[in-house]
Amino acid sequence: MIVGDPMGVMPCAREGCEHIMCRRYNSHHGYICEECFADLVVFLAERDGSSVKIVEAFMNIPVGSNQYAFREQAKKDADELFPECK
Ligand SMILES: [Zn+2]
Repeated sequence: MIVGDPMGVMPCAREGCEHIMCRRYNSHHGYICEECFADLVVFLAERDGSSVKIVEAFMNIPVGSNQYAFREQAKKDADELFPECK
């Protein structure tokens, strides 16, 4: 797809989002709509970072998820980083 093609659709790459005609694009993550972008800002503020892994986690959190879902994902990531000793 050609970036900025006026005839093309630019579908939001976030899980569950149906928005098209997105104006923001990242070569790794794809397009993102304004609503998901606003969510992403909140997500990044909570996570204190914007690494590829963090953004990827966000893109996989379905649209309509609340802060609780964000925290669940953060907990999962933290669990992975510091698994409990058996
Ligand atoms: Zn979206």
